[in-house]
Amino acid sequence: MTQALYTMDSETGRIAPAVDEEQARAWDRDNVMTTYARLPVTLVRGEGAKVWDAKGKEYLDFLAGIAVNGVGHCHPRVVRAIQEQAATLIHTSNLYLTEPQARLAAKLVSISDFERVFFCNSGAEANEAAIKIARKHGKKDGSATKFQIVTANRSFHGRTLATVTATAQPKYQTPFAPVVPGFSYVPFNDIEALRAVVNEDTCAVMLEPVQGEGGIYPAHKEFLQEARELCDKFGALLIFDEIQTGVGRSGKWWAYEHYGVTPDIMTLAKALGGGVPIGACLARGAAATTLVPGDHGSTFAGNPLAARAALAVLEAIEEEHLLANAYAMGAYFVHRLNEAPLRGKIKEIRALGLLIGVELVQPDARRVLTESLERGLIINAVGDNILRLLPPLVITKEDVDRAVEILSAVI
Ligand SMILES: *Cc1c(COP(=O)(O)O)cnc(C)c1O
Repeated sequence: MTQALYTMDSETGRIAPAVDEEQARAWDRDNVMTTYARLPVTLVRGEGAKVWDAKGKEYLDFLAGIAVNGVGHCHPRVVRAIQEQAATLIHTSNLYLTEPQARLAAKLVSISDFERVFFCNSGAEANEAAIKIARKHGKKDGSATKFQIVTANRSFHGRTLATVTATAQPKYQTPFAPVVPGFSYVPFNDIEALRAVVNEDTCAVMLEPVQGEGGIYPAHKEFLQEARELCDKFGALLIFDEIQTGVGRSGKWWAYEHYGVTPDIMTLAKALGGGVPIGACLARGAAATTLVPGDHGSTFAGNPLAARAALAVLEAIEEEHLLANAYAMGAYFVHRLNEAPLRGKIKEIRALGLLIGVELVQPDARRVLTESLERGLIINAVGDNILRLLPPLVITKEDVDRAVEILSAVI
């Protein structure tokens, strides 16, 4: 591009590079693999719960980069940490110790029930690490058959071959068959089905405390308790995938705290780096020391830039009391939706903190998403009739009121 144009926001006086949206769309259309059906909006800037597109239009972002921008867009503390670290040391490889990674591990251990952390770059990689730990842990007493991993129907655990196998949804698996051996599936929240499949050959049970991509379905407490008991009985590891539910979204640091059921392994990604790619696999007990040098690794994992960003995210959540805010705003949101003039339009609202699923009576989710976008509200649709709302933890009552106003008009 030879253009060197800048735009100035008339309200804030902020200068930003001009974006040639048509050119960008053409480059995307002609050069990027079409794994996403893109919405007709090009986002250029974000601040808190708001984003702006290339035409200068403002949106309330109630998807937050799919639960990634937990502390909002461009949180000043996160921006500062990234800028400082980028000017100091971006990457070294894990052959060398860097202080930010060690500090982040200590912080995560101090605010959770886990003892050790393996860092990686994404959710799928965090689950891959969990699966590898479970497989190796299953072999520790010499068993050649203890490698079965039980997951739930409608789950989502990632897109790599092993994690797509853990993801019990045929649409994600079928094109890539044969998938990885050793996985079996049970209906979510079905205690009897779980009892029927977990046995001596099970090395792990892997569950989301609240199914996110599946449509916001919270686990029943008894189901998670049963999973814990069965894992203890058969020497299997209980893995909670908290990639979407963790880092404060539920109103507590980790969703498992709502249930009083502590897994052996918890996986994180999404909100952890505030947008900088980072994942983590946290473990306690034997699972924390199963991996030894040479077993597993990742070039970029936990590099100083990502670790500093994650530390800033965790500090912001603490200092700004965002756990309490997430919980309060989640409750307020559900309350407002219930009293909005939507009677007969909504079948069910499922929520834990700021994980909110609105199941519509009509198969209308796509239309609601598109029209909300036109009115300046970003949300997500799951299937034909579920709206998924994952706003940043920093939202205010005014933001919720505005979102409910738009949703009421559209639905
Ligand atoms: C997003 C997500 C993943 C996959 O994370 P990626 O970073 O996209 O690999 C896995 N599990 C859950 C519950 C998720 O929400």
